[in-house]
Amino acid sequence: MSRRIMVAGNWKMNGSNESIASLLAGIKAGMDAADKTTVVVCPPMIYIHKVQELTAGTAISVGAQNLSVETSGAFTGEMSSAMLMDNGCTYVIVGHSERRALYHESDMLVAQKYGVARAGGLIPILCIGETLEEREAGITEQVVGRQLDAVIAMEGVKALADGVIAYEPVWAIGTGKTASPQQAQDVHAFIRSRIAEIDAGVAEKVQILYGGSVKGSNAVELFANEDIDGGLIGGASLDAEDFLAICTAAN
Ligand code: PEP
Repeated sequence: MSRRIMVAGNWKMNGSNESIASLLAGIKAGMDAADKTTVVVCPPMIYIHKVQELTAGTAISVGAQNLSVETSGAFTGEMSSAMLMDNGCTYVIVGHSERRALYHESDMLVAQKYGVARAGGLIPILCIGETLEEREAGITEQVVGRQLDAVIAMEGVKALADGVIAYEPVWAIGTGKTASPQQAQDVHAFIRSRIAEIDAGVAEKVQILYGGSVKGSNAVELFANEDIDGGLIGGASLDAEDFLAICTAAN
């Protein structure tokens, strides 16, 4: 089975009404070169509606960077899956390492978010990855396996077929240090084989993106690997030319 390639931009807490309009104009202008790639942008919550309007009628999909596990009510500052759907989101990132580290999101909470997103009709992008300390201690597979198992335990392995996995080594995020194509491929193959031990069909189908300092210059080499189905892009997704270079590489 050949899996479709995906490039998703995580804008994090960046942008303004003005910069977002110009970023999207730039991306839209170059989308013809990315016709075989699923292109997703994940703006800050407050700009989701605007981005949805600006991308209407294009092949660009919109994703959120987070969601609540609650459905409605007295949860100040939170956003439900229904609200994201209501505003044109197709995807939602869950378990980004910044949320795990800075907002203390546990494997269990991330698994819950994965389930809530899926139940609400969104496609969750599940981020997993080890820190530098964990890599140096030789426990990368243990950590990534544990993060993945939390979702499988709570939602069942079939739930993974409705989402996307992003392997993001924490030491490569925003640092300019990219995992080598071989390092990335090794962990992607491990993730796929761990899923295959339970359900080979799901393992074959699930898209596994790589994230961590992906640029136009290293994207081709990374995406050429058998188990790497595209990228989750932080810094380089804030510049239309850089982001398009990655989308073109994916194509
Ligand atoms: C990210 O935060 O998901 C990410 C991959 O960031 P960067 O591309 O900047 O390393």
